[in-house]
Amino acid sequence: MAEAMPLRRSLPTKPASHPLLLANIGQLLTLRGKAPRRVPEMKDPGLVEDAAVLSVDGKIAAAGKWKEVAKHPALKAQRKKLEEIDCRGKVVLPGFVDSHTHLVFAAPRLVDFEKRITGASYEEIAAAGGGIRSSVEGVRKANVKALAERALAALREMAAQGTTTVEAKSGYGLEAAAELKSLEAIAEAAKRWPGTMVPTLLGAHVVPREFLGKPEKYLREVTEKMIPQAAQRKLARFVDVYCDRGAFGLEDAVRLFEAATRHGLGVRAHVCQLTSTELWPLLRFQPASFDHLDHVVDEDIPQLARRGTVATLLPGANYFLGLEQYPPARKLIDAGVAVALATDYNPGTSPTPSMPFVLSLACTHMKMTPAEAIAAATINGACALGLGASKGSVEAGKDADLAVFEVEDYREVPYWFAAQRCQGVVMGGRYFPGGGR
Ligand SMILES: [Zn+2]
Repeated sequence: MAEAMPLRRSLPTKPASHPLLLANIGQLLTLRGKAPRRVPEMKDPGLVEDAAVLSVDGKIAAAGKWKEVAKHPALKAQRKKLEEIDCRGKVVLPGFVDSHTHLVFAAPRLVDFEKRITGASYEEIAAAGGGIRSSVEGVRKANVKALAERALAALREMAAQGTTTVEAKSGYGLEAAAELKSLEAIAEAAKRWPGTMVPTLLGAHVVPREFLGKPEKYLREVTEKMIPQAAQRKLARFVDVYCDRGAFGLEDAVRLFEAATRHGLGVRAHVCQLTSTELWPLLRFQPASFDHLDHVVDEDIPQLARRGTVATLLPGANYFLGLEQYPPARKLIDAGVAVALATDYNPGTSPTPSMPFVLSLACTHMKMTPAEAIAAATINGACALGLGASKGSVEAGKDADLAVFEVEDYREVPYWFAAQRCQGVVMGGRYFPGGGR
């Protein structure tokens, strides 16, 4: 497998069973404690200075003050095999969990980009044959290998910016064969990338051209073909739906969630990006996350605050669409909702692999503090994927997935926007300088 990918040759060949010590850490953000994080814990990143993290067999064996970590028996017993990374004057935090990406597509959408600059709206572009539907042809024509290669290249860019876990959606195939092919491409990329991937079926992204005017019929394609096959072949962990004007309605979303639940898959939804949607009819399915929420209804917020459903905010899309309004992070966080941040990486509305840039947007345009933004991008992102027990914080027993930043203070991570300050990541206990690019 490694020979097939020239870039892999530069990656360390040591197996994860070699213990790894991140030593002399200036600031370690542990994010340990209750998960998901809400106010007031969300304001506390669990900062430890003069710290170290020891990983053994891909898991964190000890993390905290160096004086404490130094006592761990594995340090002495495996000293010869130990790989040590000097993190003097640097910040170490949990690897980012990018819990919302549309990873599988064939080409960027440059015509849409230019049209929008000259004044066309998202919906006008869609009506003129651009938008989501224009990515469909490319995905239908591409083979699994080509889609997987493109996905892998994006994953490496993400890792170079500190991301170690990525949720990846299908959604540009919009027919059973092409949606399943997209999920196969995700599985192929997952095999070859040392980070963690969580696959999601988004067959209900929009109604494809050949079903225009017959949304019911297309919905049956999703519920009767795509969902059962994706579940049976274990190609997806979640089913997602784009529930908004121009896509699917609330009743459609309920039917999709019923089908997903019947087949043992988790659910999540794109909601309230363009218009308001009542969320309570979907809450009984215990969605892992509601994503976007720009136009969330005030009455739904207390309901969200009481539940485990994470509110995933995607300011990269607002930025790229040139919107003045950003998702209402303060309103949600202050009400006690568990908020996550993700890139929404996609060719139409958010072509960025960078979690640090998203954090910067969250601070400058949504008035989240750097600590809140980091919690949203790590432990809360993990909870949005059902991985809160294994990812998103630096605690003994959790997966050794970490990001090392060449900054002295964690607040510099969102401060230096559009900069590259990530020195490397640890994925499954292995260190990848530059994210493994
Ligand atoms: Zn999305």
